[in-house]
Amino acid sequence: MTSRQEHLQIRKNLFDRIRRAVIKVGTGVLTHDQGLNATVIRRLAREVSMLMDQGRQVILVSSGAIVSGMKKVGMAERPSDIPHKQAVAAIGQSRLMLEYEKSFARYQKKAAQILLTRDDLCNRRRYLNARNTINVLLDWKIVPIVNENDTVVVEELKFGDNDNLSAMITHLMDAQILINLTDIDGFYDKDPRGHKNALLIPLVSRIDRGMEKAACDIPGAFGMGGMSSKIQTAKKVTTSGIPMVIASGLKANILKRLFEGRDVGTLFLPGREKMGSRKCWIAFTLKAKGAIRVDRGAAKAIRKQGRSLLPIGILNVEGDFGVGAAVSCIDPDGVPFARGLVNYKATDVRKLMGLKTSQIEQRLGYKHYDEVIHRDNLVITIDD
Ligand code: GLU
Repeated sequence: MTSRQEHLQIRKNLFDRIRRAVIKVGTGVLTHDQGLNATVIRRLAREVSMLMDQGRQVILVSSGAIVSGMKKVGMAERPSDIPHKQAVAAIGQSRLMLEYEKSFARYQKKAAQILLTRDDLCNRRRYLNARNTINVLLDWKIVPIVNENDTVVVEELKFGDNDNLSAMITHLMDAQILINLTDIDGFYDKDPRGHKNALLIPLVSRIDRGMEKAACDIPGAFGMGGMSSKIQTAKKVTTSGIPMVIASGLKANILKRLFEGRDVGTLFLPGREKMGSRKCWIAFTLKAKGAIRVDRGAAKAIRKQGRSLLPIGILNVEGDFGVGAAVSCIDPDGVPFARGLVNYKATDVRKLMGLKTSQIEQRLGYKHYDEVIHRDNLVITIDD
């Protein structure tokens, strides 16, 4: 158990050191019945500008385009079909940026729009291009404002939601924290909107099954992921060694108070040392194209000793992937525990299962590598 004193000390030490933060702001914070909430956006711009004036870099991940677009054209219900959703997003995105531009200008700051699809970030070159661009903007002290490029994505290519997008941007930019500003005060053990006795959890050092279950019962106000997708995001981010906060974006001075080390919102502590950006890309941005089941010995060697995956430890191969694809490694208990980039295509891995490395050439007629996944391209995705 952490005492209150220790908790506050943890917060103070952590926030004092933050030089680069990703701040995600949800639709429930940015919009109200009339569309975009200019007061909230102005307040956000003031607080972000204050952080920048303290010498910190901030990347905003902003939702709000769809609801803003709906209000702009007088639509009462969120469209359910893709072309209409894409059209309202296009309408709303420009309004959203206009509000940010106006608000940041009050504090002598400029904003830039970055629209991305998951496809962009799965492509290593485009991923690096996005990173370089955002780095230049940060050097120029301009606020990058990221949203999903809703106008071109279809369901299967989506990030899922902006919670997930914000995790990927945190990894992309090697940020030291992800702050998720939503319309409730943090993570509660029950939905605070229906339960008077719901308790806010101020500090989480490990996300357990109970918390994941509790989160499923706290939906988002706008039909997006709600608390469940925030907890999944927190899992990804903390597993890669980065802390995350869930706090209310509707509260005045929320960022100021967080950075002063005050006890607001829920702080999720990282589960391990910070992973490099490339390993985060393999583990959390790429979609797994298949799975490799490994035996107990291989699972232990990978997990405990950071070893490569060799053919001898492979029990089974699922999916049809090519060379260089991301695949998930599954232990004999059925638990996916690692992700890596394969050196051989699925049909070849099937031929190699259970063989010694000395037998690879004889079996395939060629051998480019000893390892099916080299340890440099292999990342453990769950904490023990
Ligand atoms: N990209 C959507 C929008 O700007 C929001 C998606 C989300 O919040 O998850 O409206």
